[in-house]
Amino acid sequence: MNKHFDAIIIGAGIQGAGCAQALAARGYSVLVVEKATVGSGTSSRSSKLIHGGLRYLESGQFSLVKKSLRERALLQQLAPTLVKKKAFILPVYRKQRLKPWQLYMGLSLYALLGKLKPDARFRKLPNREWPALSGLKQQGLLAVYQYYDAQTDDLALTQAVMRSAQTFNCELREHCEFNQASKNADGNWQVSLFQLPQETPQAFTVSCKLLINAAGPWAELVQQQIIGAPSAPPLALVKGSHIELDLALSDSIYYLESPIDQRAIFIMPWQGHTLVGSTEKLHSSSPESQQPSLDEIEYLYQSVQHYFPDCKANIINQWSGLRVLPNHTNTTGKRPFSGRQRDTIIAADDAKSPQLISLYGGKLTAYRITANEVAKMSERRLGVTGKAVDTATLALD
Ligand SMILES: Cc1cc2nc3c(=O)[nH]c(=O)nc-3n(C[C@H](O)[C@H](O)[C@H](O)COP(=O)(O)OP(=O)(O)OC[C@H]3O[C@@H](n4cnc5c(N)ncnc54)[C@H](O)[C@@H]3O)c2cc1C
Repeated sequence: MNKHFDAIIIGAGIQGAGCAQALAARGYSVLVVEKATVGSGTSSRSSKLIHGGLRYLESGQFSLVKKSLRERALLQQLAPTLVKKKAFILPVYRKQRLKPWQLYMGLSLYALLGKLKPDARFRKLPNREWPALSGLKQQGLLAVYQYYDAQTDDLALTQAVMRSAQTFNCELREHCEFNQASKNADGNWQVSLFQLPQETPQAFTVSCKLLINAAGPWAELVQQQIIGAPSAPPLALVKGSHIELDLALSDSIYYLESPIDQRAIFIMPWQGHTLVGSTEKLHSSSPESQQPSLDEIEYLYQSVQHYFPDCKANIINQWSGLRVLPNHTNTTGKRPFSGRQRDTIIAADDAKSPQLISLYGGKLTAYRITANEVAKMSERRLGVTGKAVDTATLALD
């Protein structure tokens, strides 16, 4: 092949697709290489929420919540068929960790960060409405709040963002694995790739001015395959699992405290069925091996039985995804990952003129903001083309 690109992006999850869209819309030539298919990694295994992240207020991540709420509103406009407003029901019980007044304060702050727009408002459901809540356990119930966030099809959203990138000068290669990169004498990257799946993978090289590592849970491994690259920051892979039940429990999303460890659990409508998630388990083996354990399945199913005692549902599907979070030495306690930063870590090899930009972690919801930051950094290396299109104006379908 031996083609030259302004930028090569490794990984076609939401972050890789977002960066491809932002860079291609600025007029750069872009190649995206994806070892499987678009969105087949974490970006099809999330809780599928486009949200500010009410629970991140507890750990003081106000700026993440504020920008995510802004993105939620924008994505609802840009992708009305993919990002839909949903009512969230937040019941509060007597023995729960968070008390009604704390949730009231949290929801008030959430509304303020959402600029008190109609979608940011919440209400307390009167007691007379409680019995109509999908068979929700009434015993010990102290209060029920209702607020709004949004739900998406994460895979379809990632594919739509990639399609949008491809309307510009962006080439996508699926089943194409990044193998190694090293710098040429002219300062450009020489990138070696394998085209899969074939009995004998076909090796070929391409070159670029700027390399972007958006390999999600594989980003640390990819970083090690880039000769001369700075090491990744200390990271932890944290597995999150979901189960799918064979019935439609509700049209709203229930936001509940797990009766086992008081973590947040969502019970969500999903394609005529119900999705329950997620867990948080430290994952120390290869990113390829992501399967829910029996413990995780039981943990999720028990939450459904605890809050909806009459629900007789069967599990018809189950899967896991891997969060990339900053590593801490303290992994003890009931909720060891709850306070960790959920924002993307964007690391460049050279702040003035980056040749390598690596992304670690982050939220599906904030992909466009991350991509814009990456695109701004890229201008320092690639120059300004003068024909930039703002991704905030690009419809997604
Ligand atoms: C359980 C769970 C629930 C979540 N829920 C939400 C939520 O509700 N809302 C929200 O906003 N965020 C949520 N998130 C976060 C969000 O899903 C992730 O941050 C996001 O999907 C990560 O996208 P990514 O592009 O970084 O990674 P990925 O989607 O994993 O993409 C990385 C891609 O790189 C490819 N790749 C890896 N190595 C190579 C290589 N050598 N060559 C070529 N390609 C390679 C992989 O195949 C993969 O497709 C959740 C995360 C988890 C785990």
